[in-house]
Amino acid sequence: MQEDRAFDIVRTSLRNGRLPHAYVLVAPPRGAGGAFARRVCSLLLCERGPAAAPCGECDGCVRAARGTHPDVRTLEPEKKSRVIGIDAMRGSFLPWAAEKSFDGGWKIGVVLFADRLNDASSNAFLKTLEEPPENTLFLLATDQPDALLPTILSRCQRLDLSTGRVPPAEPWRTRVAEALAAHSNASQLRVQATAMRLHAIFEEIRGLAEDAVRAEVRAASEADPAGYVPPDKDTFDALARTKEKELRLAVYVAFQDWYRDLLVLSSIPPGAPEPVLFFPEFRDVLAERARRVPARLALRYVDLAEEIRTHIEVRNMADTFVFPHFLTWIH
Ligand SMILES: [Zn+2]
Repeated sequence: MQEDRAFDIVRTSLRNGRLPHAYVLVAPPRGAGGAFARRVCSLLLCERGPAAAPCGECDGCVRAARGTHPDVRTLEPEKKSRVIGIDAMRGSFLPWAAEKSFDGGWKIGVVLFADRLNDASSNAFLKTLEEPPENTLFLLATDQPDALLPTILSRCQRLDLSTGRVPPAEPWRTRVAEALAAHSNASQLRVQATAMRLHAIFEEIRGLAEDAVRAEVRAASEADPAGYVPPDKDTFDALARTKEKELRLAVYVAFQDWYRDLLVLSSIPPGAPEPVLFFPEFRDVLAERARRVPARLALRYVDLAEEIRTHIEVRNMADTFVFPHFLTWIH
């Protein structure tokens, strides 16, 4: 489940042209991390293009899955020393990364057990991450992300695949970020505009929730045509409302993550290493805002996100009332 959501994030970023240069995949490299990396390789190399799901049948997909695609290069620790040394890094990996891709499309550099990079190989790799080659994605799989150099981590978007927090589902994550990126409380009109965008997301979620329950009902009746008793209207509504609440969680999490990023950016001292953000693709917007919003206010916004959730989900207040009310206080 986490993996599917993480995959959604990668796919949406790719479609929006906002793919970062590198991801840290937090998962066992021999298990979920490596598998996820192969999935992303197929996504980028499938001959049907990134708009579709990888077909699994074309030459690009097959070679990506077998690990024989010339535009995929994998680096892993040497058997004896169990580290990824400078020789392996400089010998073939970085020169390969600097070259044009074989097929004219994406190149993917995979580092399995990225925590085994030593100082020398980390620093050599860092230079490439600082000036990343075009159309090249790096995937660093590790189950010990804290062992990586902070300077490397700060240049990667982090995807926790098997442990830790689950990123909010797409497309809601990006939609919320876009609404908040455009937000201003300079006028009541602007506040209403943000509230309307968030309300539109809720409306869409309502439609999806009803569709999902309808599909479940259909599946259950087809499985047992004779014995199945369809739910009455009240039960159907209750099921749909429950599903809707579940889906809306992604909106609140994204909302809170956005203001956590603002908080991080408004509280880093000058010269500190680049922090790891939930929304690295919106870094410029966030950084610009962080210059105007002191940390104590950003912290307040994180709390407001939780208050918005409580008012809507616990007190059952209308979002069309709650959003404009709270957004008035948010710069
Ligand atoms: Zn394919």
